[in-house]
Amino acid sequence: AKTISIREMNKYYGNFHALKGLSLEVEAGEFLVLLGPSGCGKSTALRMIAGLESISSGELLIGDQDVTEVLPKYRDIAMVFQSYALYPHKTVAENIGFPLKMAKVPQAEMDEAVRAAAAQVELDGLLDRLPGQLSGGQRQRVALARAIIRRPAVFLMDEPLSNLDAKLRGNMRAELKHMQNELGITTIYVTHDQIEAMTLAHRVAIMKDGELQQLGTPKEVYSNP
Ligand code: ADP
Ligand code: ADP
Repeated sequence: AKTISIREMNKYYGNFHALKGLSLEVEAGEFLVLLGPSGCGKSTALRMIAGLESISSGELLIGDQDVTEVLPKYRDIAMVFQSYALYPHKTVAENIGFPLKMAKVPQAEMDEAVRAAAAQVELDGLLDRLPGQLSGGQRQRVALARAIIRRPAVFLMDEPLSNLDAKLRGNMRAELKHMQNELGITTIYVTHDQIEAMTLAHRVAIMKDGELQQLGTPKEVYSNP
């Protein structure tokens, strides 16, 4: 796990100031939740950290490396989106192993890594299925396994549970928490759901209109609204 240092990060879309001087230090192994209403700049901030969106000004460090202008694939980051985009004609095992296949990892090593990642999200026994034969929660777990298989230093998640029904969401929250405790990967998790923030976060960063409004543990944040 590595730290994430965000220093005075700004984003302009033309004249529109979408992210206003965000500064945030995320500790190694911390699970930080970015919370706020739709349009407040959460996804923009996350995409900038992932390198999917340019940084208008400011600095971004992963560990002690300045990655402000580094391409996404060299950032040691994995990202999970709300629509988890699995390959429908590939099996669960093939979906999970895909990043390693792209990296030309030998088959035997890949099989072992797929088994380990699948076990971590309790997908053992489903490796030969196709995504269409899985529940929503199981599909989301395939997406998580695919993200963790390369053992990234940093994990970014953008509303990963928002397409699931309430019951599945509850189960997945518990699983994410369990997984976080096991793996201890530094995580930034975007949501507009207070319950998710409350149950998952070590610290919550509350955003409004492109600005960081409050930062603290769930207890601190909710006792000083
Ligand atoms: P959130 O994730 O909190 O819902 P976003 O980061 O998606 O918010 O968006 C923050 C603000 O930036 C919104 O007002 C949105 O309309 C605007 N925005 C996001 N992406 C773009 C873009 N590519 N071009 C122009 N404006 C954008
Ligand atoms: P979110 O679920 O994070 O609110 P949106 O539905 O607002 O996402 O945005 C989806 C996509 O549209 C993103 O890629 C974002 O960059 C882009 N987008 C959002 N707002 C605008 C905007 N005002 N102008 C151009 N693109 C935008």
